[in-house]
Amino acid sequence: CGIIGINGIHDASPRLVEGLRRLEYRGYDSAGVATLVNGHIERRRAEGKLANLDMKLRDQPLSGTVGIGHTRWATHGGPTENNAHPHATKRVAVVHNGIIENYQELKDELTGHGYVFESATDTEVIVHLVTYYLDQHGMTPVQASAAAFKRFTGAFALVLIFAGEHELMIGARHGTPLAVGYGDGEMYLASDAFALAPLTNRICYLEDGDWVEVSRTAAIVHDATDAVVERPVKTTAVSG
Ligand code: GLU
Repeated sequence: CGIIGINGIHDASPRLVEGLRRLEYRGYDSAGVATLVNGHIERRRAEGKLANLDMKLRDQPLSGTVGIGHTRWATHGGPTENNAHPHATKRVAVVHNGIIENYQELKDELTGHGYVFESATDTEVIVHLVTYYLDQHGMTPVQASAAAFKRFTGAFALVLIFAGEHELMIGARHGTPLAVGYGDGEMYLASDAFALAPLTNRICYLEDGDWVEVSRTAAIVHDATDAVVERPVKTTAVSG
């Protein structure tokens, strides 16, 4: 329901949770974060309120300067910890708003390729499909993501991070808003500018069908045909 991503130079997880707190107004039933720890994807997820996630993070802190966070409003699969986002394989993790309408067909295809699903969500097909393109087609993360985005139907926004890729976060907007934030040596993605207000007020709203490659210092926006496009960066009035 609410998503945030940080490609940063400072610890990500406390700031991801703070961003999620600012997205609480949308409503949610569970929450989670994932970061890159020594290049590996590590997750913490919890049912219910952000306080539960906070408690987990206090017990088992997550280091890392690249990360994603999510507040979930379940559409497919009950509001359990196991169905909470981020969903992940060894190679890629995702947070996702909305619905992948054709998930069953993709799940059948990926199960046929030997991928094993761990949740009851529509979301999990995203990480297995991207992993399939990485593993079995030898694509780069950017190529694999672009190929996967063309397979999904429905209204969604999502953010991906990749094991071993500290300079990459990929976002896509398909019927559900996603904003790019420009920080000081850091870049962000989020459902809205309000979530990013403590971090930056320099915001670029993606247009429908856009997807974006985000490093710590730059964003390359592509439209639905994969062409590189320019989208205006605006200074917002939203206060932190
Ligand atoms: N359809 C996804 C799920 O049920 C995402 C729901 C949301 O937007 O939070 O996990």
